Amino acid sequence: MLATILYGAGDVRCEEVAEPKILHPTDAIIRLSASCICGSDLWPYRGLNDVTSPLHMGHEYCGIVEEVGSAVATVRPGQFVVGSFCLSDNTCPHCRFGFQSSCEKREFMTGAQAPLARVPLADGTLVATEEIPSDDLIPSLLAASDVLGTGWYAADAARVRPGSTVAVVGDGAVGLMGVLAAKQMGAARIIAMSRHKTRQNLALEFGATDIVSERGDRGVARIKDLTQGIGADAVLECVGTKESMTQAIQSARPGAMIGYVGVPHGVELDGQSLFFSQTGMLGGPAPVRRFLPHLMELVLERKINPGKVFDLELPLADVAEGYKAMDERRAIKTLLRV
Ligand SMILES: [Zn+2]
Repeated sequence: MLATILYGAGDVRCEEVAEPKILHPTDAIIRLSASCICGSDLWPYRGLNDVTSPLHMGHEYCGIVEEVGSAVATVRPGQFVVGSFCLSDNTCPHCRFGFQSSCEKREFMTGAQAPLARVPLADGTLVATEEIPSDDLIPSLLAASDVLGTGWYAADAARVRPGSTVAVVGDGAVGLMGVLAAKQMGAARIIAMSRHKTRQNLALEFGATDIVSERGDRGVARIKDLTQGIGADAVLECVGTKESMTQAIQSARPGAMIGYVGVPHGVELDGQSLFFSQTGMLGGPAPVRRFLPHLMELVLERKINPGKVFDLELPLADVAEGYKAMDERRAIKTLLRV
């Protein structure tokens, strides 16, 4: 089969590889309905993570179960499933506490930018639908695998409540999903920080009430202006740079929570500033599995349409162009037809 392999910075190829096989009794093999490229795939693509051996790319997936290992009990061949990018047993103490992304047996999904993929820990990771969903829902179900679940976690971690004033730092797919999540959680005011017209429009469609296009200190000043000098009740940090993290902390009112889901690169926090900011921080890799049944239900009932975040669709063979378009910010998120 054809699959996506990243060899080094800027060098991603669609190549012939062996089809995945069941390696452990807890594995499942799924035939993907569609795949996609994640903003986090751009870190190794941009050379910001060391690539020491060729990487089988892709950690977002949904599709039909082809085969299961002998120990798999909750999903069976022929079912449509969605899984998290974090693989978890869903039974250990961390999983039961709702933090499946810190599962004692945690693995990260790989190799999903391909027509077939092996999903380890299938019982704890995959959620099946009752029926095969209609084709037009596939992009939204695929989004639930990572970006929607991650944006949702950012809003949950930031304790967004009905009536909250929320600031969202970052207008990538996850930031936009954070806007959608905050809206679903009943936020009264959602301030999206974005400088790009198409992303601003999508943020407004997902429920943003205000757009702030300034960054850094000027961006913080705008948020203070919009909140009578108080700051936001909840802040979603969806980038992971020093600038975005500083912006998030300074936009938060005392007592606010910051949900941070951008993978930090070069972020260092000053202890005293954090101390006097009186803000709380909860972040890390999203425990998507905790939210997955609810998010899938919202999609299947057509209450949300997170699949709109895909603004470029390509066949898997053109995966290199998909990476390039996202790297150059010509595309928010690329859907791959497999
Ligand atoms: Zn676990």
